[in-house]
Amino acid sequence: MSTLEIRDLHVNVANSDASAEPISILKGVNLTVSSGETHAIMGPNGSGKSTLSYAIAGHPKYEVTAGSITLDGENVLEMSVDERARAGLFLAMQYPVEVPGVSMSNFLRTAATAVRGEAPKLRHWVKEVKEAMSVLEIDPTFGDRSVNEGFSGGEKKRHEILQLGLLDPKIAILDETDSGLDVDALRVVSEGVNRYKEHHDGGILLITHYTRILRYIKPDYVHVFVDGRIVESGGPELADELEANGYVRFTQAAASGA
Ligand code: ADP
Ligand code: MG
Ligand code: MG
Repeated sequence: MSTLEIRDLHVNVANSDASAEPISILKGVNLTVSSGETHAIMGPNGSGKSTLSYAIAGHPKYEVTAGSITLDGENVLEMSVDERARAGLFLAMQYPVEVPGVSMSNFLRTAATAVRGEAPKLRHWVKEVKEAMSVLEIDPTFGDRSVNEGFSGGEKKRHEILQLGLLDPKIAILDETDSGLDVDALRVVSEGVNRYKEHHDGGILLITHYTRILRYIKPDYVHVFVDGRIVESGGPELADELEANGYVRFTQAAASGA
């Protein structure tokens, strides 16, 4: 059983005008995610959801000015990006990067080697990847293509979920995994996430803007994220309320300083 614990997290991002003050984005985030739990974070555009995932992943542009992040009591903020992955954190990016010249299968094996601490035996690895790809309905020729280069939105997301299954992290942070997916791709990707949750007892932090994906991935907890912090937490019924009424109730309360 693993627990990711975020306490009173404050994060600044450097201003693009280097002479200006950094901008405060996260303003006191508190969140605990444990194995086997699915937490959905929902909030309007620009509320800081991606900033939260980047801060957890250790992106250098995001400066933690106060608060803490721990994984099973270990200080995540002191870890390098690689160490965070080895410790069992997984981040699927809202905008996955292209890596020209590096094939998918090499990329995946390198990632698995880094996380597992030793290279997977080649023959076993090929089989493992093949099976994982077939479950996600990924074309076998995919392994030979450069990472994310020329991938469609849906292909990139399947690739992320392929990594999720192969790397077997303790806690997975999925940022807008649903964006740009058609219904078929959404179903396949959601099944992959659900399999991870069931078979690996993974903890999931699902960041999304839409309630659509929550029909396929059932959250145990829903958190409303406005202006750099969680303003309300509840069960799945909170997502139904957001679906019906949007974020107005929460953004107005935040604007009036409530
Ligand atoms: P969300 O994911 O909820 O849409 P983001 O975390 O992407 O929100 O962004 C929150 C706010 O921080 C936005 O106003 C955005 O413009 C700003 N921001 C995020 N990253 C940067 C950056 N690297 N440089 C400047 N501003 C940023
Ligand atoms: Mg955004
Ligand atoms: Mg975002």
